[in-house]
Amino acid sequence: MPTEVPCNTCTECCKTNQGLFLHPEQGDDVESYAHRVLTDQATGTPVFLLAANPDGHCVYLGLSGCTIYDRRPILCRTFDCRKHYLILPRQDRDNLVRLGLSSRAVFNAARARLKTLSPEERQDCKEKREEFFS
Ligand code: SF4
Ligand code: SF4
Repeated sequence: MPTEVPCNTCTECCKTNQGLFLHPEQGDDVESYAHRVLTDQATGTPVFLLAANPDGHCVYLGLSGCTIYDRRPILCRTFDCRKHYLILPRQDRDNLVRLGLSSRAVFNAARARLKTLSPEERQDCKEKREEFFS
């Protein structure tokens, strides 16, 4: 059973503009969200992103957090910044920040919560990192 991310009042994920992907292939009903469509330059296929305000914050981020919490997209339900941090090598984390696909604040939030992962989860992340990046 994975540990829940103890987000508390953190909402950094909701402020990453280019990182707010919708995944219709995993059940997201794209048309039910304010969104924009980009084209994947490599494949020519459409990519769907939650609409963001000019400051890069998701349009559904309110003063007290997500205003559509019960129907938030799959990425918002499943993303675990701690595992994301542990699996990615530093250079890849830096690249994501540079491309606007994540933010330094997300990785800082992750680092502050690493101790809340179980030893088994940490080991699993380590193995994935070795599998994908060595
Ligand atoms: S950055 Fe981590 S702690 Fe902050 S909202 Fe995202 S998943 Fe939660
Ligand atoms: S839908 Fe909600 S949880 Fe997802 S990015 Fe927007 S405000 Fe955050």
